[in-house]
Amino acid sequence: MAERRRVAAFMATTATGVSSACARPVGATSAARWFSPAMPSATGSTVRKRLWRATAEPGCGPGISSARRSGAVPRAKPRRRRTGPAIGLNLSCSGSKTRLGGSRRRSSVPSADERLWELRAAIAACRLCRDDPARGETHRLPHEPRPVAVLSATARILIAGQAPGLRVHESGLPFNDASGDRLRQWLAVDRDTFYDPRNFAIVPMGFCFPGYDRHGSDLPPRAECAPLWRRRVIDVMPQIELTLAVGHYAQRWHIGADCPKSMTDTVRNWERYVKRNTGPAVLPMPHPSWRNTGWLRKNPWFESELLPYLRERVEVLIR
Ligand code: SF4
Repeated sequence: MAERRRVAAFMATTATGVSSACARPVGATSAARWFSPAMPSATGSTVRKRLWRATAEPGCGPGISSARRSGAVPRAKPRRRRTGPAIGLNLSCSGSKTRLGGSRRRSSVPSADERLWELRAAIAACRLCRDDPARGETHRLPHEPRPVAVLSATARILIAGQAPGLRVHESGLPFNDASGDRLRQWLAVDRDTFYDPRNFAIVPMGFCFPGYDRHGSDLPPRAECAPLWRRRVIDVMPQIELTLAVGHYAQRWHIGADCPKSMTDTVRNWERYVKRNTGPAVLPMPHPSWRNTGWLRKNPWFESELLPYLRERVEVLIR
């Protein structure tokens, strides 16, 4: 009885996702725990440590070794390098080092990869629009934040989009919808090439799905996101040579004061921005949404002049 009471007390203090003292943690995969700020704070390793303490007390169960043999305690999994996105991960990142907290010794000055990983972890934990919305209670994000972006230490093309839609929010994979299909057709790349973070960094103006307005349309990117994160994200990816500014929100930020008010005027003047002398070249593009099908019909020069240039540059800049 004493043992049962001790185990029950232990279970009351450990994370959700463990259904009994002799059960493995259930629910999230290790990758999802790493990537999602909404996951329980007790990781598999924490659960193992707590189980060790609980079972190591005198008179309490068979001890950790026999518990491991019996499968009651999950064995530690070897650490793996995380180098790219996978379906269901909501914030991906390429890099060449082990993640922070690994066994590699760190110097006092973080490397570019470490800064990228640190920033990525900070974004994954962001709850600003939910906990402290800039425009007050009535503009609180109506769901749990799930930032979706692909940061990369090696990609030379940055796709600067708007904000995830519901389908992207649910899958955690950017441009995982009809707009993404059209964008890949514009770029002349397949899905594997598109989702390889060595080829493309994908950073929308707002990282989280903003919800719908009263007409059922997607709201604009959250106003809190770009001021908080964008400059820092751009600064950790100095290797970017071409930014595809997809939609007017991205064009205004990446082109700056020189950006015309009309999206059509901005895209029509694309040669001016790809040839500018400061910073990476910016190629303004309309959003590939079906809503812009009419715009594409009215502006055939986009397909006949801009797309050939885009495909040529993509071919040169991807690996
Ligand atoms: S949209 Fe940006 S600022 Fe808002 S919660 Fe998501 S990551 Fe944070």
